[in-house]
Amino acid sequence: MGPMGFGPPGRGHFEYKSVEKPKSIGDVPRFLKELLGGFFSRLFYIFKLVWKTGPWILFVMSFIALFEGLSPVIGSLISKSILNELQDAYTAYTGTEIAADFLHSDVFLLLIFFFIHRILSQIINRINSAATRISGELVVEQVKMMIMEKTKELDLASFDMPAFYEKLENANREAGNRPIQILSSTFSIVSTSISLVSYIIILATAPGMWWTALIMIGISIPSAIVSFIYRRKHFSYMRFRSKDRRQMNYYTSTVTNKDIVKEIRMFDLADTFIDRYRAVFKHYYAGLKKLIITENTWHVVITLISALTRCVFFAMIAFQVFTRRIRIGDYSLFTGALTSIATNVSTLINTSATIYEGTLFIDNLISFMEEKQTVVPRLEKPERVAHGVSHTIQFIHVSFRYPGTERDVLKDINLTLRPGETMVLVGLNGAGKTTLIKLLTRLYDPTEGQILLDGKDLRDYDVKDLYSIFGIIFQDFGKYAFTVKENIAFGNFHKEHKDEDIRRAATEANADEYISKLPDGYDTPLMRIFEQNGLELSGGQWQKLAVARAFYADSDVLILDEPTSALDPMAEQEIYNQFDRLRKDKMTIFVSHRLSSATVASKIVVLEYGEIIEEGTHHELMEQHGKYYELFSTQAKRYLAGDGEQEDHGQ
Ligand code: ADP
Repeated sequence: MGPMGFGPPGRGHFEYKSVEKPKSIGDVPRFLKELLGGFFSRLFYIFKLVWKTGPWILFVMSFIALFEGLSPVIGSLISKSILNELQDAYTAYTGTEIAADFLHSDVFLLLIFFFIHRILSQIINRINSAATRISGELVVEQVKMMIMEKTKELDLASFDMPAFYEKLENANREAGNRPIQILSSTFSIVSTSISLVSYIIILATAPGMWWTALIMIGISIPSAIVSFIYRRKHFSYMRFRSKDRRQMNYYTSTVTNKDIVKEIRMFDLADTFIDRYRAVFKHYYAGLKKLIITENTWHVVITLISALTRCVFFAMIAFQVFTRRIRIGDYSLFTGALTSIATNVSTLINTSATIYEGTLFIDNLISFMEEKQTVVPRLEKPERVAHGVSHTIQFIHVSFRYPGTERDVLKDINLTLRPGETMVLVGLNGAGKTTLIKLLTRLYDPTEGQILLDGKDLRDYDVKDLYSIFGIIFQDFGKYAFTVKENIAFGNFHKEHKDEDIRRAATEANADEYISKLPDGYDTPLMRIFEQNGLELSGGQWQKLAVARAFYADSDVLILDEPTSALDPMAEQEIYNQFDRLRKDKMTIFVSHRLSSATVASKIVVLEYGEIIEEGTHHELMEQHGKYYELFSTQAKRYLAGDGEQEDHGQ
């Protein structure tokens, strides 16, 4: 579940709590420092990313940028010449000219050039849009792969931190179009600059008009400043409101989540979630709206000033035609140049602002990719785990607290598991049983103390190698939208799967019986996410499948963390017996609520508030008349009284 961050629920009484606002929004000196420092390195990061996706993208885009920069200027020059030639022809007209003369004239030749240029531009435009879309898809794939590959290695602990989720959410969201958008914007800067410089040169040839170019550029500067400041504000706002967006996503996904739709209906929760969504959105939207409106008001004012200036300049150029200092074609060229300079400068500014903003968002991706992994072997040459043998596991003064929390969930645990032992972990909910399993399997590292496998610290082993000795079924085991066969084979996907092995594992888990009755047997697709004929299993059927997966894994240490709660007591006992029979001399660890399974264990460990309070066999602990005795007797009594499985101690 995502962090809620709200007080007690209650429809209509929900108050929005705002976090303290960051102070540095739009801070100009810091922004300049940032621009010089971070900006270029981020831009470089994107170029590297695209280069990795395919160097051709950069080549094609450079060519297009060059063409697009020169193309409008060439177009303007051709148009100018056509107009001037026409004006000359018009003035020189004697009345004797025939069509053949026109076909041989410069005007006709220029018209041909004009259209060749148009056609070429359109073709290049198409190539550009095709290349952008194709490369866009490729870059998205590249970034998604990077994110998945990175996630694959990350510590489980990272997932417990809201800050990490924020990064992941941001990186995932930005993975889409940002990089290619930034790239094409960068190339558009190149082409716009080429055009801009060319038009400035053209305007410089106009008699006495060169300074107008400077003024046009000058009045665009305030616009630049506004753009940059607001992009930064926008970015800070998005980051500042990241929790809101996560909350909104959480509410939407909760209301639309198939797994909890039953509860949402029965408890009539949908409106509560919708109300909460609305409340968060209201605040999120209010700030955003204000930003958008103020930025654009500034731009309207600046545009008005710029339009007025241009109007004056146009009149000046027209006056020169009026006084015969320049020709009509020149009027079209110079006014065109002025307009183009204005639009180019504004494109340049807006695009730079887009790039700048984009690179800030890319920061999310960069910082996600830099998330450090701590669950790694601490030796340069990690130890190899012996496979197919019996292992010894020792906890030595192990304490643990979850990252970002203040409380020790496990305190000074000392425990030895000898080869072939069966251990049952007993304790109330929240006692720390699952956490102990997570440490044992090195999903987390202890905060204090050490855990030894065959005499060596877990941290000395290669992590993947270490994981491969454990066959584990968690309380919240995975349900995969794959076929039954694959769901079992995931227990060890690296070995070559043979149908008989899969069937054997299923038989051992008492799953073969129901699987054989499924429409497509072992090839039945599960879950109705992708396939029309996808099948939903019952809770108990899923659990049997998970058990089959653990059997299939054929690992040295089998761990069952209450995976049997959806099974009836008979089925559960059967699975435990099966485990006991099949485990040979393997180490087995059970976490169970039903203490009947503990009676056969070679070691029972009772946890309370993160500490081991009792340890021994069923016999020994019953004689101690302690916590275990109390739990066991309560359960036995309930069974006898007929309450059966209603019992769930520790709730
Ligand atoms: P058990 O398996 O005995 O029911 P757990 O090991 O799951 O207990 O949990 C022990 C304690 O650790 C609980 O108080 C629980 O709230 C806390 N806890 C479990 N997982 C996390 C986590 N990811 N982050 C912070 N606290 C956690």
